Amino acid sequence: MAKKIVKRARIKVDKAVAAQRIKQIYPVLEKAYPDARVSLNYKNALQLLVSTILAAQCTDERVNIVTKDLFKKYKTVNDYASADLATLETEIKSTGFYINKAKAIKNAAAMIIEKFGSKVPKTMEELLELPGVGRKTANVILGNAYGIPGIITDTHVIRLSRRLGLSENSEDPVKLEFDLREIVPQNNWTVMSHLLVFHGRAICQARKPKCELCPIAQYCPAAFKPQLW
Ligand code: SF4
Repeated sequence: MAKKIVKRARIKVDKAVAAQRIKQIYPVLEKAYPDARVSLNYKNALQLLVSTILAAQCTDERVNIVTKDLFKKYKTVNDYASADLATLETEIKSTGFYINKAKAIKNAAAMIIEKFGSKVPKTMEELLELPGVGRKTANVILGNAYGIPGIITDTHVIRLSRRLGLSENSEDPVKLEFDLREIVPQNNWTVMSHLLVFHGRAICQARKPKCELCPIAQYCPAAFKPQLW
């Protein structure tokens, strides 16, 4: 049987309306998910950097299982930079794409030693120089390890931004990031990202969002018709 193609509505976003919507949903989501935070386990910026590289195309749960042992063995950038690549590949294999990830971790550690005084950098521009680090990873590190607000365009953030009519650019993570920066107060950039991720996991799931249980349904243009958004 031919696959049924669902045509999505083209959304037009008024930034003032979207900003007002953020004001309405933020307190509701904050109350619903008081523990919203990054789900990766880490104790410092280096551990978070390694975890976020491993988290590409992998679940946070799987990454946390792998890093439990990894962080016992590799404690400093020198440990990663001098790691035997084949051994590191084996140790992170279950996170997928392990050959590229192992190389990225080892090379990022070497660059941190050579260029950044052995400290994970604290600016977007410097973080983007590291292998395996894109804007999303950089914003995770800035927001969570250094308290510098950043919008994290996680897959849930992308989906919910579309359904909630927050951006016309949900297909383009960089444009989406800048759209959300305009309508979310800067202090809330990191937390808002976590709240959308938690809501995406718990209620507004990709295939079958539970609109009937959703505490922000009254503000959502896609409520009860999310397949169109
Ligand atoms: S009402 Fe439905 S589509 Fe809208 S945010 Fe809630 S679960 Fe998602």
